[in-house]
Amino acid sequence: MKLTFLGTGTSFGIPVVGCRCRVCTSSDTRNRRGRHGLLIETTEGRLLVDTPPELRLQLLQAGTERLDAVYVTHPHADHLHGMDDLRIFSLRSRRPLPVYVPAEYATEVRDRFAYIWDAESRDQPGMAVPDLDLRTFEDRTPVAVAGLGLLPIACPHGYYRSYGFRAGDAALVVDAKGIPEDARDRLQGLEVLILGALWRGDPHPAHLNVEEALDLAAQLGAKRTYLTHLTHRLDHADLERELPQGVFPAYDGLVVEC
Ligand SMILES: [Zn+2]
Ligand SMILES: [Zn+2]
Ligand SMILES: [Zn+2]
Repeated sequence: MKLTFLGTGTSFGIPVVGCRCRVCTSSDTRNRRGRHGLLIETTEGRLLVDTPPELRLQLLQAGTERLDAVYVTHPHADHLHGMDDLRIFSLRSRRPLPVYVPAEYATEVRDRFAYIWDAESRDQPGMAVPDLDLRTFEDRTPVAVAGLGLLPIACPHGYYRSYGFRAGDAALVVDAKGIPEDARDRLQGLEVLILGALWRGDPHPAHLNVEEALDLAAQLGAKRTYLTHLTHRLDHADLERELPQGVFPAYDGLVVEC
């Protein structure tokens, strides 16, 4: 399994517009972070996780020519609002692209992109509206997506829930304040764990900070843990130096095999 980190920043991205801080003005390209996206490739298929606003640029950077399915963790703008960029895949394959969303948010996703599922706008001559096959999944009910067996895990995210998942020996939990105690046994024996973490200190009501993410990483004991969804309060090189063994900061374009 090949994992490509397409975007590893929060909703503001880095650099933050108008910010002159040390990280936003850094010459280290690993401090440039787009909104959250992840690509998972196996011999069976190619799965995109989330459709962030920079999706087109991220897919160009990754050299992605084909997608078999998309998985949406939750409908916050930074994880969803690049959905229109999926149009090229259905246009090229002449097939609807399956997009898996949490059942509780299916209506919200449809409403946000009403034109995509409006037959009248889609059938206009010359229009290239994405042809998306919206499918739903439920917490802790395995679902086969792009040849992968995924186990979605709903995690608290402020007034929302964000659906992380396990796929083989890899797991992703992003935009979560934690993982429910009774789901943690599903995340044992991992080769790779990807965890969202905002910054050091100052607990956030809807996200893990670095300290909380490290606690969770230690409890789950994955061989390698990658932190993603990072803010400009963290410098990549500093963070890399300070993290314990087996824990690494991700960056846009990082490729990990497992
Ligand atoms: Zn987010
Ligand atoms: Zn900044
Ligand atoms: Zn969110």
